[in-house]
Amino acid sequence: MSFEKLGLIEPLLRAIKDQGYTEPSPIQAQAIPIIMDKKDVLAGAQTGTGKTAGFTLPLLHRLAESKPKGTKRVRALILTPTRELAAQVEASVETYGKYLPFKSAVIFGGVKINPQITALRRGVDIVVATPGRLLDHMNQKTIDLSAVEVLILDEADRMLDMGFIRDIKKVMLELPKKRQNLLFSATFSKEIKQLANGLLNNPALIEVARSNASAESIKQVVHPVDCSRKRELLSHLITEGNWSQVLVFTRTKHGANRLTAQLDKDGITAAAIHGNKSQAARTRALKEFKEGKVRVLVATDIAARGIDIDQLPHVVNFELPNVSEDYVHRIGRTGRAGNKGVAMSLVCIDEHDYLKGIEKLMGKRVEQIKIPGFAVDPSIPAEPISQGGGRGRQGGGRGNGGGRGNGGGGNRNSRSAGSGSRNSGGGRSRN
Ligand code: AMP
Repeated sequence: MSFEKLGLIEPLLRAIKDQGYTEPSPIQAQAIPIIMDKKDVLAGAQTGTGKTAGFTLPLLHRLAESKPKGTKRVRALILTPTRELAAQVEASVETYGKYLPFKSAVIFGGVKINPQITALRRGVDIVVATPGRLLDHMNQKTIDLSAVEVLILDEADRMLDMGFIRDIKKVMLELPKKRQNLLFSATFSKEIKQLANGLLNNPALIEVARSNASAESIKQVVHPVDCSRKRELLSHLITEGNWSQVLVFTRTKHGANRLTAQLDKDGITAAAIHGNKSQAARTRALKEFKEGKVRVLVATDIAARGIDIDQLPHVVNFELPNVSEDYVHRIGRTGRAGNKGVAMSLVCIDEHDYLKGIEKLMGKRVEQIKIPGFAVDPSIPAEPISQGGGRGRQGGGRGNGGGRGNGGGGNRNSRSAGSGSRNSGGGRSRN
C-alpha cells in the first residue's frame, strides 16, 4: 500500500515525502479513504499509531477538493483535551498542509486571548482548540463556527475524563447540522459510546489495535522495589543505563515537583510538566527535553497527553496510575510508529492492586525483573495510597483518605469502580 494509491492530492504527497514516510500506517490505510469520502468515523486508535496524519491528511484533501461557502470562515474544527496536544496537532496540520494555501490556528487557555482574536479575524480555515478557550471565544463572538464542514474530536476519552462533555455539547450546538464528524478515542467506555451515538451519523468503525491492548512494539517490565527506595532505583537505572532521554510519570503534581528536585540533587537534569505550571514553563520544559538539554521529563498523566517525541526510548512509571487506562496511554509514549521502546514500572507493595487492574485490562501479565541491590524487604506492610502521592516522607500515608481500603473491594482500578476510586483519595485531578 502506498500514499499515492490512496488518491491523495499531489501537494499532500509531496509533504508526506518530505516527512520521509514510505507507506501509510494501518490506521492511515483504513481511515484516509473513508474520511476522503466524507463519511463519519468512529476510530479506536492508540497514540503512536499515526492517527494524527490519519485524520489530517484526508481533512486537508477534502478541504482542497471543495470550495468554501464564503470567505474568512472556519471550515474545520479539531478539539483536543490538552494544550500540548492542540499545539502538536496544529503543527501536523502545518506540516502536511505546507504546500496548500490553508491557514490554521491553535486556540487554548493559559495564554493571551488577543493574538488569537487577531488571527481569527484575519481568517482561518482550520482551528485546533481545547474546549474551554474555544467557549470563551464563542461567548465573546470572536469565532464564527457556522460554516464548519468537519468536526474532529481527538482523544475523546480524555476529554470526557477531564470533564469537557458539557463544553463539547455547547460547541456542537453552534455547528451546522450537516457536517462530517470524526471521533478518535483510545478506549471505549459507556460514556464514549453515548457521545458517539449522539454525534456520529452511521459511522464507519475503524480499529487498529484491540482497544485497551498495548502496542506490540513496547517491551514492558515491572521492577519490584520498596516504596522508599524508588528514587534511588530510578537514579541507578538512569545512570547505569546511561539513558539520555526518559519520560517519568508520577501520580501527582506535587510528586512530580519533588522527584524533579531530587533527581537534580543526584546530578541528573530534570524538568517537571503538569497543570500547575504556566504554559510557558510547560513549553520550555518540553523543548529542552526534546533538545536533550534535560535528561528526564517528569510528568503527570494529563500533562503528558500531548507529548509526541519521535523514538522516545524509555518511559518509567515512577508510580502506577490509579486508573488502569492511563497506563496504556503512558506507555504509548514510547515505541511510537513502530520504533522499539521500553516501559518500566517501579512497583512497591502498596501498588499491587493497581498492577493487577492493569494486567487485567491488558489481558496479560507484565514480566517482573528484580534489580540487584534493590531486593524488596518482605517485612514492610502495604499502606494505603493517598492523594498526596505515596507514603511516609513522600507525603500522605495511612489514614489520609487513601484509595486503598476505601473502595469497598473489587477492582479499584477500573473506571466503573466509580466513587470508590475516583473521589476518595485515589481520584484524578486536572493535572
Ligand atoms: P500519532 O499517533 O499521530 O501521534 O503519530 C505518531 C508518530 O508517527 C508521529 O511522530 C508521526 O510523525 C509518525 N508517523 C505518522 N505517520 C507515519 C508513517 N506513515 N510512517 C512513519 N511515521 C509516521
